[in-house]
Amino acid sequence: MEELLREHVSLAPYTTLGIGGEARFFLEARSEASFVDGIRFAHEQGLPLFVLGGGSNLLISDDGFPGLVLRIALEGKSFTPGRTSTEVTAAAGEDWDSLVEDCVGRNLAGFECLSGIPGSVGGTPIQNVGAYGQEISETLIAVRCYDRVQHAVIEIDSAHCRFGYRSSIFNTTHRERYVVLSVLYRLTSDGRPSLRYAELQDHFSSPQNAALGDVRHAVLSIRSHKGMVIDPRDPDSRSAGSFFKNPIIDSAGILRISQRLKDIPSVPLSDGRYKISAAWLIERSGLKRGDAKGNVGISTKHALALVNRGNATARELLSFANDIRSAVHEASGINLQLEPVLVGFEKDEEL
Ligand SMILES: Cc1cc2nc3c(=O)[nH]c(=O)nc-3n(C[C@H](O)[C@H](O)[C@H](O)COP(=O)(O)OP(=O)(O)OC[C@H]3O[C@@H](n4cnc5c(N)ncnc54)[C@H](O)[C@@H]3O)c2cc1C
Repeated sequence: MEELLREHVSLAPYTTLGIGGEARFFLEARSEASFVDGIRFAHEQGLPLFVLGGGSNLLISDDGFPGLVLRIALEGKSFTPGRTSTEVTAAAGEDWDSLVEDCVGRNLAGFECLSGIPGSVGGTPIQNVGAYGQEISETLIAVRCYDRVQHAVIEIDSAHCRFGYRSSIFNTTHRERYVVLSVLYRLTSDGRPSLRYAELQDHFSSPQNAALGDVRHAVLSIRSHKGMVIDPRDPDSRSAGSFFKNPIIDSAGILRISQRLKDIPSVPLSDGRYKISAAWLIERSGLKRGDAKGNVGISTKHALALVNRGNATARELLSFANDIRSAVHEASGINLQLEPVLVGFEKDEEL
């Protein structure tokens, strides 16, 4: 393992924001054996451990991380066809969008609307990734994990993951307890694409004839116009995607906000509450796409993405995010919650 273990490694290049100081120790786990070595090393040395995937949902502190950053680079995928569905198993380090492309190419339905989301397979259950009307919770069957408390490999089925909007046990009640090693999904063989989102339906003159590949291309096109596909030529994609979650509120909350802001767009949820657009709230609070403060700014294409305009620090980005939260709170009374995970910050530095 010694030759794989590195010291004082800059973490910025491992994130889509391109921000972050050094990891005291860094290990890229390409096999489960080197993964176990990493876990053991952190344990023996009494070091804090951070599990890194594709770095697309992170804001890492300028001071970096004082322990071991264990990058999950496990590879491998398999497809087991059944009568009407196909079970897909993918190792946590596989690139998510390559898996989606592969599945769409095999005419497997269930992931097509999740095209273009950056990051790893292992990252998908953490916040129950979702886009354009699909969420990973709809196709995920089980997660194979290393349990850092019991020091054993276990399997957690979908019901026990307790998926919600951008949440699961992995980022709430059992945060940092489990390391995802592989994920089992079930997709519909020769299935029809999902076209629940109006913005996506509008892309087609006859949505009923759209094939899975057409929907993937439409999603990628919509996302690129919003700077939501990682593209080195697009400075607006130097982000962590949505920086804030869409607030979920009850009908009394909607009424309260409507007294201050008219025509608030909301989507009813199955539990009787409503999801409202954080991007709309930001724009209604007087901020606009392209607004900047030094090295950081709001994407010119989407009000929810905060971008590193070059050499930004984490401190600058958090301070700008705080300005946005204050403006939204003043205009609507709503406290926006951050979507990315903060790494290496002191408690009082966080928003
Ligand atoms: C341009 C852009 C667009 C985006 N669009 C969307 C979108 O439409 N919908 C959406 O839901 N998200 C979106 N995201 C956010 C992000 O891509 C997803 O959340 C993604 O699943 C994160 O995966 P990752 O491998 O990059 O995780 P990382 O950013 O590396 O880590 C995020 C969290 O997951 C944990 N983690 C990662 N891998 C593992 C593992 N194997 N085991 C245990 N914990 C792990 C980390 O410890 C950390 O807490 C977007 C991001 C960007 C930059």
